[in-house]
Amino acid sequence: MFKYEMHCHTKETSKCATIYAAQMIDFYKSVGYTGVVITDHFFNGNTTVPSDIPWSQRVELFVQGFENAKQRGDEIGIDVFFGWEFSLNGTDFLTYGLNKDWLLDHEDCHKLKINDYCDLVHESGGYIVQAHPFREASYIDMIRLLPRKVDAIEVLNASRGDFENKLADEYADNYSLPKIYATDNHTGHRERIAAVKVNEKVTSVNDIMKLVLENKHKNIVLEL
Ligand SMILES: [Zn+2]
Ligand SMILES: [Zn+2]
Repeated sequence: MFKYEMHCHTKETSKCATIYAAQMIDFYKSVGYTGVVITDHFFNGNTTVPSDIPWSQRVELFVQGFENAKQRGDEIGIDVFFGWEFSLNGTDFLTYGLNKDWLLDHEDCHKLKINDYCDLVHESGGYIVQAHPFREASYIDMIRLLPRKVDAIEVLNASRGDFENKLADEYADNYSLPKIYATDNHTGHRERIAAVKVNEKVTSVNDIMKLVLENKHKNIVLEL
């Protein structure tokens, strides 16, 4: 079985992360994961990337966390895939399957209306998973749900509490949406981490999502 982390941040690119990409990858290698998807906060989220520089430079800075993670992964033998976490006032959408060239070609895509953004990602061959849909925090003005626009729901976020996760799980059931578990790791070692587990070693995050959409995966929680 092959374990993948679907939601993970780096200090290079996410302001709220406390660990650099290379150390994060070392951690996942040490706990036996096959791969990690780096999902740093996008330009509408808690990013380290300044907004007052040209788009191409913003993209270069944005991919830094991923590229450092990938380099470390290549050194120690763990797969690293690219994604990001698109934010609409605290409602977060993990975006998978697109790359740096796509970002370079889609200047200001973080300013799109959420429905248009979801359509563009899908037209481009990407996938969207709503992260922690029932998260509550002082800076989140409301809970937003887009059941017809996302491919799957993060129904267990190992960094959130049981109540929010239970609501997410019921929400996915009610709309027959595929489910994933993920950690939302900002710190490296944690007492509780989650994974998507599949039977085959994949070569891209798209392959993971195809398995998720066919319900050919398992979701697991690990207590460390
Ligand atoms: Zn964060
Ligand atoms: Zn996150």
